[in-house]
Amino acid sequence: MAAKILNGSEIREEILAEIRREVESIKAAHGVVPGLVTILVGSNPASLSYVSLKVKTAHSVGFKEIQDDQPAEISEDALLGLLENYRRDDTIHGILVQLPLPPHINEKKVLNAIDPDKDVDGFHPVNVGRLLIGGSIFPPCTPAGILEMIRRSGVETRGAEVVVVGRSNIVGKPIANMLMQKGAGANATVTVVHTATKDMASHCRRADILIVAAGVPGLVKPEWIKPGACVIDVGVNRVGEKLSATTGRKVAVLRGDVDYDEASKIAGFITPVPGGVGPMTIAMLMKNTLNSLKFKLGIPVT
Ligand code: NAP
Repeated sequence: MAAKILNGSEIREEILAEIRREVESIKAAHGVVPGLVTILVGSNPASLSYVSLKVKTAHSVGFKEIQDDQPAEISEDALLGLLENYRRDDTIHGILVQLPLPPHINEKKVLNAIDPDKDVDGFHPVNVGRLLIGGSIFPPCTPAGILEMIRRSGVETRGAEVVVVGRSNIVGKPIANMLMQKGAGANATVTVVHTATKDMASHCRRADILIVAAGVPGLVKPEWIKPGACVIDVGVNRVGEKLSATTGRKVAVLRGDVDYDEASKIAGFITPVPGGVGPMTIAMLMKNTLNSLKFKLGIPVT
């Protein structure tokens, strides 16, 4: 039987609608809305388009949103000063600094200067630590999106064999960590495989839930997939260009880390690329920002 497709764009819209409703009820009860600031240094076109999408989405769910554009020449001290101002600003609950930063600025220093209690990307070492011991309110957005897709698919994680391909700080390590936590929606037995793993295929074949984040097109072969497994393909690989049917412009052809056509005949659930995990990331960013305000107001964070 063909796998059920986990459509990230549809799930994203469901989550954004839920957030919108919560924002309205918090506004009615407390007179405040979540505030998100995105700092963009310079005018890198790709960064600009990511930032505008974040700002537009924040606006669409009723947040106070600020796009703080700074010149490429801004000094490191001035940028650190801005972060301090937003840390003190009670109307701001989430702070993002769009990467990459110009070479004269130390990225690590800047990211570590973001207030951990407003670090909605969840990459500050304090939040990485909180995630590890359980109970962070700012899980990194891509892994949080993966978990949300698994939960909404109804796939049982308790006791499930999970195999994660890749151990990056932004995807592999955090998702492995989140799924091994004791508690509802996790409680899995997790294996992480990487370039030093001896027999990757044999690990993957055991997986009830297979999460692939390697950045290698078609790395996972169909015969590595356990029949009925839930396959989450995080990989986004540009494998060529084509002309868009709507705009007539050249667009990238994207492929995941899994051979989708063949894998979808074996898996029980599968995410497409594009349109799977990708769209979830921004929804989780909005959720983290909402949770930041909820935490401040003493409203339970789920
Ligand atoms: P990364 O930092 O390059 O890490 C890749 C990981 O995969 C590493 O741990 C590496 O192992 C492992 N790996 C690479 N080739 C392998 C192979 N042949 N066999 C086994 N393991 C292998 O990548 P990332 O940032 O996690 O991103 C992974 C993919 O996800 C990329 O395609 C990226 O574009 C995509 N991504 C998508 C989203 C989204 O949709 N929102 C977000 C983030 C990333 P070693 O540690 O041994 O080198």
